[in-house]
Amino acid sequence: MQEIEIPSMNPERFRSVLSPQRFEEFERGAREAHELLEGHVVWNINSTARGGGVVELLRPLIAYARGAGVDARWLVIDGTPEFFTVTKRIHNHLHGAPGDGGVLDDVARAVYERTLADDLADVEGRVHEGDVVIVHDPQPAGLIGPLKAAGATVIWRCHVGIEHPNDVARAAWAFLRPYILPADAYVFSREAFAWDGLDRDRIAVIQPSIDPLAPKNQDLAPDVVVAVLRTSGVLAGESSTPVLFRRQDGTPGRVERRAQMVEDAPVPGNVPLVLQVSRWDALKDPLGVIRGFAEHVPADTRAHLVYAGPNVGAVADDPEGLRLLHESIALRAQLPPEQRARIHLASLPMEDADENAIIVNALQRHAGIVAQKSLAEGFGLTVSEAMWKGRPVVASRVGGIEEQLVHRETGILLDDPHDLAAFGAAIAGLLTDPQEAARMGARARERVRDRFLSVRNLLDYLGLIERLTGRPPAGHGASPIGARAGA
Ligand code: UDP
Repeated sequence: MQEIEIPSMNPERFRSVLSPQRFEEFERGAREAHELLEGHVVWNINSTARGGGVVELLRPLIAYARGAGVDARWLVIDGTPEFFTVTKRIHNHLHGAPGDGGVLDDVARAVYERTLADDLADVEGRVHEGDVVIVHDPQPAGLIGPLKAAGATVIWRCHVGIEHPNDVARAAWAFLRPYILPADAYVFSREAFAWDGLDRDRIAVIQPSIDPLAPKNQDLAPDVVVAVLRTSGVLAGESSTPVLFRRQDGTPGRVERRAQMVEDAPVPGNVPLVLQVSRWDALKDPLGVIRGFAEHVPADTRAHLVYAGPNVGAVADDPEGLRLLHESIALRAQLPPEQRARIHLASLPMEDADENAIIVNALQRHAGIVAQKSLAEGFGLTVSEAMWKGRPVVASRVGGIEEQLVHRETGILLDDPHDLAAFGAAIAGLLTDPQEAARMGARARERVRDRFLSVRNLLDYLGLIERLTGRPPAGHGASPIGARAGA
């Protein structure tokens, strides 16, 4: 078990982003949180400190909570490769997908429990009665029972889900349910993701959020965008001066590392760019993105596609990544040369999280259109990230994407995630109507400001913790589904 040090960030920074009324509400919440949690720790436990949406979400939430005077901390469990094979299988099954084809049987359970037994000894020494523990996703869920027994308030935060569970997903629920049940609350990103067989009064909905001031989302001047992309080897040309940016902790950073590009030649600076930023994961459908773009976005649009993912050696809990990257490279290689030349696969450097974030930020800002052609999606932070940058998003109508995008208002939602022709047509349509694309982008930014920034998320957690610890809630979000339904 590893504790990740998160420097605090002053929530005052939000003053520049929010309306005065929203900011006041947030300040009030921060004061309440400080009083409520004085003398206790709010632990977050997950399975990786690098890569993926949960990490992206956690860092700023913990940092702002600390800035508000709450002792929020972050623990990452240790796991063996066979443990992560099992938990990746669980993850896929929760999305209704077969994953590696393996089953969640007694052997898988033994692997799962053995690893967590080792982690438990470590966590028990740290968590004390009266602490709040937020356990994220299935990987550490086996710790919930023992943590409850230790006197902590335990919240299970599930970041994945599907709205129409199949037998595969239900079997994964059955596998996990005994570990989950003891928690005081079960938090899902959407009401539609809540599992059967859980006490409805303990279910809460909290939508994820992005940090508008983080390196991933901070404003970047157009010349900085180009310089970042040149220096990191994504865009053709060299940058003559060092490329500096503001790190998460406020100190200056410098872009130094290069992406590993699979391409015929670097992306020309003067062509429209279509971008998908995602892990190399079957559910993000990199093969569908590549084929859909190659076959259905006409060459006369002059558009190029960049599919950008993390350098796969770097993401510890994702054994499938390398296979998907290789399959993507192979698919690209067999395309006709004129299609292949417009497609670029980027593996982004992951050694320095802030540097990685600034490259993603620059890519999203340089893109004319951002795609998220997922086959299933818990939430899809990349969608809010692109929307915050005023980009229209073309995405599948799956999971949390549907909460974020409003069809034809802020982007285009595709009813059938497998329909490559519709995917290509939506992109081509926006490429040929830049005014409409810009209008959608502007509306997208305001929607994120209203609903998907970290402040709202923090207030939701505060409301939930107030409820669980018996303090009268001050009217923040995340009321239980059962309560809302009058149950
Ligand atoms: N991401 C990144 N670098 C990459 C690929 C992805 O920083 O090379 C980030 C991306 O910007 C987003 C997160 O990882 O913040 C992915 O979150 P999302 O909810 O979209 O998907 P998940 O990976 O959790 O399924």
